[in-house]
Amino acid sequence: MFWEKDIETMNISEMKELQLDRLRTTLIRANSTPYYKQLFKDIGFNPSDVKNLEDIQKLPFTTKNDLREHYPYGFLAVPRDEIVRMHSSSGTTGRATVVFHTLNDINNWANLVARSMYMTGARKSDVFQNTMGYGLFTGGLGFHYGAEKIGMMVIPSGPGNSQRQITLMREFETTAIHILPSYALHLLDVFEEMNLDPKKDVKLRLAFIGAEPHSEEMRKKIEESYDIKAFNSYGLSEMCGPGVAFECPEKNGLHVWEDSFIIEIIDPKTLKPMPDGEEGEIVFTTINREGMPLIRYRTRDLASIYTDSCPCGRTHRRISRIKGRDDDMLIIKGVNMFPIQVETVLMKFPEIGRNYQIILETKEHMDDLTVEVEVLTPADDMRIYENLRKRIAEALRDEILFTPRVNLVQPGAIKRAEGKAVRVIDKREKA
Ligand code: ADP
Ligand code: ZN
Repeated sequence: MFWEKDIETMNISEMKELQLDRLRTTLIRANSTPYYKQLFKDIGFNPSDVKNLEDIQKLPFTTKNDLREHYPYGFLAVPRDEIVRMHSSSGTTGRATVVFHTLNDINNWANLVARSMYMTGARKSDVFQNTMGYGLFTGGLGFHYGAEKIGMMVIPSGPGNSQRQITLMREFETTAIHILPSYALHLLDVFEEMNLDPKKDVKLRLAFIGAEPHSEEMRKKIEESYDIKAFNSYGLSEMCGPGVAFECPEKNGLHVWEDSFIIEIIDPKTLKPMPDGEEGEIVFTTINREGMPLIRYRTRDLASIYTDSCPCGRTHRRISRIKGRDDDMLIIKGVNMFPIQVETVLMKFPEIGRNYQIILETKEHMDDLTVEVEVLTPADDMRIYENLRKRIAEALRDEILFTPRVNLVQPGAIKRAEGKAVRVIDKREKA
């Protein structure tokens, strides 16, 4: 059993007490890292100054850049030989950063992942196929240890080799899978090539989808195509990896595990706290980590906090699905837009296929945007899709307030990235 009832349904005032207690311990630990020790000295901060949770706001934010500048060991709070594992971010936005864990950290992380999966209904009897990358990336090992805690049989298939993924699913009757949402759609093409029906020819019932932004419509498409339940999993290597926030059976926001992380939402421009319920950048403080405590870490990820209580009974507050990173925002013809808005529109058309891409170019000194999208059924002459093309362009205009060029292509025509999907190709001339 992995329902940590006392913690998951802890009342708010008790939770605040627990957080304050753990925050204090964290700050004392942080004071023994080269980075924070210097910082605390520079700003005249003493961990014992912290009397309540709001006092955390007296401390500056920690950024990815700070991690890079103090690479590799500047944030280490324990002697190097207490560290049992290192991980690294996937480096989506530049040089990767490294994170170090003690044995307790690994164990706590596995508990969070186990708690998350159990919450969705995963049990010891499940056969769990983990298609995320093993290695430095946290998606593979993070889920692996969590699934083992529950006692599931784990198939550490790792990414790629799609036909073998499906064969494994069939031969070992996989019931739960951890998969990138973009890859879940791609696999549908492979099922088709193998003449198999994902609804009937495999025993899948649960999917954990995450590591990249995706829309509610994308989730629905995955759920319907496989006839499964799919749950959004959010995390980042700087906090541990997966197991930071996860959807419960209500599928209405992701519970942030507040016994391990303090969450703040700030305005990324003014750096001031956002009022509850409004969208901004997520900032996390680790409060249950020994090896590498991080204080007020700016994730760049955009979301809002839900203020209502969750019918599932868990008291840990929820965040909305991630809209993207603040640097995913595109400004085109003076209009701000996020790739996820395009996806939301595309996924509503049953005729569209399994991959799409946004291409930015400079034409006659102006930004020019093309949405390239695969159709579901191949055609000898793509002109038969002219009407669909127009309807998509109109629907996109309603969402992003200008009409992009829409280019429909054959199934499989768009090159797929090895790992996280690359949705935007920016070929604009730099001014
Ligand atoms: P990198 O920052 O190099 O991609 P990570 O592997 O640590 O490294 O990825 C964490 C990031 O992935 C998050 O900060 C977020 O931008 C994205 N991410 C993870 N899970 C989700 C999710 N469920 N929805 C949207 N984005 C996600
Ligand atoms: Zn809930």
